Amino acid sequence: MNAPTGVSTPTDTAQQADAAATVSRLNATFATGRTRPLAWRKAQLRALRDLLVEQEETFAAALKADLGKSPTEAYVTEIGFTVKEIDHTLRHLGRWLRPRRVAVPLALAPARARTVREPLGTVLVISPWNYPLQLALAPLVGAIAAGNCVVVKPSELAPATSAALAHWLPQVLDPQAVAVVEGGVPETTALLERRFDHIFYTGNGAVGRIVMAAAARHLTPVTLELGGKSPAVVEPGADLAAAARRIAWGKFMNAGQTCVAPDYVLAIGDAAPALETELAAAVTEMYGEDPAGSADYGRIVNERHFERLTALLADGRTVTGGEHDRATRYLAPTVLADVDPDAPVMREEIFGPVLPIVRVPDLDAAIAFITARDKPLALYAFTASAHTRRRLTAETSSGALAFGVPNAHLSVPGLPFGGVGESGQGGYHGRYSMETFSHTKAVLSKPLALDTLRLAYPPFTAAKSRLLRRFL
Ligand code: NAD
Repeated sequence: MNAPTGVSTPTDTAQQADAAATVSRLNATFATGRTRPLAWRKAQLRALRDLLVEQEETFAAALKADLGKSPTEAYVTEIGFTVKEIDHTLRHLGRWLRPRRVAVPLALAPARARTVREPLGTVLVISPWNYPLQLALAPLVGAIAAGNCVVVKPSELAPATSAALAHWLPQVLDPQAVAVVEGGVPETTALLERRFDHIFYTGNGAVGRIVMAAAARHLTPVTLELGGKSPAVVEPGADLAAAARRIAWGKFMNAGQTCVAPDYVLAIGDAAPALETELAAAVTEMYGEDPAGSADYGRIVNERHFERLTALLADGRTVTGGEHDRATRYLAPTVLADVDPDAPVMREEIFGPVLPIVRVPDLDAAIAFITARDKPLALYAFTASAHTRRRLTAETSSGALAFGVPNAHLSVPGLPFGGVGESGQGGYHGRYSMETFSHTKAVLSKPLALDTLRLAYPPFTAAKSRLLRRFL
């Protein structure tokens, strides 16, 4: 299961043969042109939509088994989310795919120029465990919409969801065009040795580098959807009770295992004491006095992450939470105050239900704090000041910037979703998915009849040269 990358073992050979067979089967399908017509793409998307609606309970049960997700959260953030992505794509795809006319310079007239969207071929989607359904299927929707064949590699750390996808997708989608390959590092390594036309990876930056290096061998373009520490800036003038509720909601959904969750709070000036009280109240309001008993609160995905997270609990004064139970991988929604900016909890992405609060004196210090670190996947701010909003927009860089609400930008289909710098490259959702998984081909068409280009042909007389300089 944990064979080092690139080491060939007998099992590797079998996995390599499987990967090679899968990719050549899909390449052969792509070569037939079957995946290109709009009708085929829409039929696949409708079939996927029907599957999600009909098997909602099956997928919700898998998400419960993997992450203790409540059925409502599973619907809102995974199943229903993907259904909406499909609906949006079905509604607009015809328009997105329409060739776009482009103006032609006078010197080339008569001629027509346009851009045409063409599928890339066979693409690989590698997805993580934290939203194991959404993060496998939303890229799949874009890849199909763009007319590609697709290999989906779900995360082995969400085995129930991975098994459900491997069982159901081939039954409703064209199995010669869409394949699900289950497995961990060896299987993914074997896939990465093949030549794909695009690789779409969601997960951590260390593996992102492995993916990018493997892609480079074939000059394959990559989209990297990574993570990082997304700050939530809170100013004292904001409605702190409302801000606390929103931050608690965004942080503690899926037990903090959300790539865009607020990782830490930067509390400006004297915002911290009131915010601490309000965060504790918000946790109680959402999950009760004992969140372990709440049907709406998730669990940590595995023991390794449980160990990693509980080691961070000593990094500040506990405002609320801290309770944990190894047997059930329960870790209470936890808020830590007076956290040192250099504490371990502030060094790596937390990716769990621990929310440190770091105090900074003013907005300048908050901006300096953010820009001194890796560019985050998202930056959130809770402020009543338009001046603050303008400054954060102009003076910081992040995958996304949201005022007043965390996580929700993902559900705006017209917004691209993706990171910048260490938080990733490329974006998707809606139209951006179709763009990610297609090539914009330049098409120029000039009739042969009128040879207006004679001017450009050698020999270049002085008169021709003058005219060329003037008109080109
Ligand atoms: P993970 O462990 O499930 O890994 C992701 C995928 O990479 C899996 O399919 C896995 O099989 C594969 N993989 C793991 N090791 C590999 C290797 N050595 N070679 C090839 N493939 C390998 O998930 P994770 O990385 O723990 O996910 C959490 C991270 O992902 C966090 O940093 C989080 O912020 C980020 N994330 C980002 C987004 C986003 O959309 N930007 C969404 C979710 C998670």
